[in-house]
Amino acid sequence: MISGQAMLAGVIGWPVGHSLSPKLHNRWIEEAALDAAYVPLAVMPENLAEALRGLPRAGFRGFNLTVPHKEAALWLLDEVDAVAQAIGAVNTVIVCEGKLLGTNTDHLGFIHNLQAKAGDLAPFKRRTVVIGAGGAARAVVYGLRSAGFEEIVITNRTQARAETLASQFDAEVVAWEKRAEALEGATLVINASSLGLAGRGALDLSLDALPKESLVADVVYTPLMTDLLVRAKAQGNPVATGLGMLVYQAAPGFAAWFGRKPAIAPGLEEWLLS
Ligand code: NDP
Repeated sequence: MISGQAMLAGVIGWPVGHSLSPKLHNRWIEEAALDAAYVPLAVMPENLAEALRGLPRAGFRGFNLTVPHKEAALWLLDEVDAVAQAIGAVNTVIVCEGKLLGTNTDHLGFIHNLQAKAGDLAPFKRRTVVIGAGGAARAVVYGLRSAGFEEIVITNRTQARAETLASQFDAEVVAWEKRAEALEGATLVINASSLGLAGRGALDLSLDALPKESLVADVVYTPLMTDLLVRAKAQGNPVATGLGMLVYQAAPGFAAWFGRKPAIAPGLEEWLLS
């Protein structure tokens, strides 16, 4: 039950009906017995600026931004921190004395999920191959650099996008046609493209050159075990599913808005997709 003084937060997207964030945050609210609610907010791109201004006035403590608003918000908030600027997108907004402060927690979500799945990341830091150069890849590469990963190689269908990302984060680019060869000597491989998403094509990537002890991670989480992860697991590689990235990126926002650190229980990912 929520009262008239309930603490409010939400997620703004267009469309937003597919977002798992309301299910996740409202479970954490229930577990902590908070007088709070987290709601989906369907806002068209042309209405974003107006909606952003209205939410603090309606008592919201903050919100998440999802597709297609993450980049546009950079120009519409009162302050955007250095992390969001470097990633080029805002996913979390905190209302502070009526002002909108934007940050990005996707990189933390990615690294914390990897730690939760693989434990000590030290053995996987030598050479990382990142597939993709879109929004998710930007957060992933920022996270890898912040966490001290050494060589980073980026491969993307549109090479110019890979080059822009690589030049910002001191990474190397491998041509899309050479992606399978790039896996030789890799200690970590990440699919940060949208390939593998249910209903889209699978990622066409031979794993023959990949050492068997290398960690394979995916940011795609529908299905939880993508074709890439199924094949990697079958040949004995450790794997990290992608939904944990969504869970771990959500935790800092929850803590900032509601004053509690949420518990990340075993089985949460499967429950979210159920
Ligand atoms: P973008 O649209 O920004 O980027 C898409 C990426 O996929 C680009 O690198 C694009 O290459 C590549 N791609 C798309 N179609 C093809 C294709 N047919 N062949 C080769 N490459 C292709 O999307 P995002 O980066 O925002 O999202 C990517 C995925 O990550 C989505 O599935 C999204 O759901 C997931 N995601 C997961 C998160 C999590 O919490 N687990 C968080 C954010 C995203 P090109 O540049 O050539 O177009």
